Formats: sequence, structure tokens, C-alpha cells
Amino acid sequence: MYFVYFLGTAGSGKSTMTKVFGEWLEDHEMSACRVNLDPAVKQLPYFAEVDVRRYVDYNELLESGLGPNGAMVKSVDLILQHATTLRKEIEECLSNYVLVDTPGQIELFAYRKVTLELLRELSGGDKSAIVYLIDSTILSKEENQLDPYAFASLAVLGASLKIRFRLPQVNVINKVDLLSMEQRFQLDAWLEDMRSIAYSVGGEEGTLTIRLIEAIEDSGGIGEMLVSSAVTEEGLDSLYAALQRSFYGGEDYA
Ligand code: GDP
Ligand code: MG
Repeated sequence: MYFVYFLGTAGSGKSTMTKVFGEWLEDHEMSACRVNLDPAVKQLPYFAEVDVRRYVDYNELLESGLGPNGAMVKSVDLILQHATTLRKEIEECLSNYVLVDTPGQIELFAYRKVTLELLRELSGGDKSAIVYLIDSTILSKEENQLDPYAFASLAVLGASLKIRFRLPQVNVINKVDLLSMEQRFQLDAWLEDMRSIAYSVGGEEGTLTIRLIEAIEDSGGIGEMLVSSAVTEEGLDSLYAALQRSFYGGEDYA
């Protein structure tokens, strides 16, 4: 089994990607087990073979007097108590790929103390990778341009995830169907060579931005950077190929 953990800021398309990438795998004669780890989600666009909501009741925590954030934090922390059961359910899927959809807000999942242990318990020694989704709409600015600072800050968040999980990582600029031709052109140049972002930034903030991008590049990068769209299905084949490379690249969970 290969584990794919979809991470990204709220609304970046994690749940939608779990759906469309699962369908893509099934269309290509593979099987997918969809795992929902979001205790607070109301509606999912796919059927979750494994669903944390069967074990953790966000609404009950909310009614117990915790605020929405408190209840969310608590419910994510409680997932760990059910890790053995979730792992068993995942094994019962008998799938090649396990697609793990994570809670809406990235910090509630990626930066909780329990998360690394939870991942270890769920993956149980099977190969795992992070797919970090970047929302194209955040990159967009007026006059048909892209915002280099938005791009750099989201690349830095990708570096943070790489440091946090130390797993093979594929970075995906998602929802590219919403970008104009001009914006795509600009994005392609940045993806070709992230350092070229230096031409678009200046001043003091520019220095920090350039230094951080250089640090990412000089240290070997944060994994492949691709584009995708759940609407046009562009990039799903590239995502699959990048995942295959990362699973066979020899990196392992540290
Ligand atoms: P999550 O919070 O990361 O799970 O994000 P969702 O999967 O719920 O997606 C948030 C919104 O973005 C939904 O309205 C989706 O329909 C929409 N969305 C997701 N992927 C794409 C895409 O590739 N293109 C477009 N145009 N919209 C998308
Ligand atoms: Mg979601």
C-alpha cells in the first residue's frame, strides 16, 4: 500500500483531489482507499471507506463547551486513540493507494503534536508521501498577474511541511483552470526556475523572499512542483508519476 496525505491551506482542494485522484487511479486499473481525517467536515465529495467521524464526534465536543477551534484541536488530538482501528479498516480496503484527506485548516493537523505518531500508526511502515496543494487563487493578483510574495510564502510553507514530516513530498499548484494564459506563463517560468522570482521582487521584503527561495533551492528543494486542476483533470497523470518516483526514490520516514 502507498499512503498519500493531502495537505494544504483551507480550500486548497484536498477533499476534491481525494475524490478526483481516487477516480483517476480507478480509471487506470488501480484501487484507492479514501480516508477522511477531518472530524468536523459536514459533507464530502466522495465516499470515505474509512472515516474518522465514525469515532470522533466533533459536535459533541463543541456542545461540551469548547469553542469551534478548541473542539477542532481536541478532536484531531483524539484521532490518535483510534489509530489502530483506522489502520485495520485501511488494511481491509485491500487497495494499492490510500488517499488521506486531512482537516480543512492545515495548522490544526500538520502542527499538532500527535500528528507524526498518527501518521506512523496509520502508515504502519508502508511507503508514504505528502502532497502539498497550493491554491492558485491565492497566487492571483490584479492586472492578470501573479503575486510573487504569495507564491514565495506558500513555497516556504511547503518547506515547513518538508521539515515537519521529513517524507517524500510532491507540491501541486492546484485549480490552475482559474488562471489566465498570462498567469500560467508567469507560473511556468517560476516553476522552471524558482530563483527567477528574484526578478519580480525588490526592496527589503524582496531580500528575505529571495534568500528563502535560494535556501530552498540550494538545499535540494522541497520535491517536485506540478500544476493540477480537479476541473479539467490536468496534471493528475503527472501527479501519479511524481508519486511513483517519490515512492521508489528511496527516501524513508525519519
Ligand atoms: P479543502 O478545504 O482543501 O478540502 O478544499 P475542497 O476540496 O473542499 O475545495 C474547496 C473549493 O474549491 C470547493 O468549492 C471546490 O469545488 C473547489 N475546487 C477544488 N479543486 C478545484 C479546481 O481544481 N478548480 C476549481 N476551479 N475549483 C476547485
Ligand atoms: Mg476538505
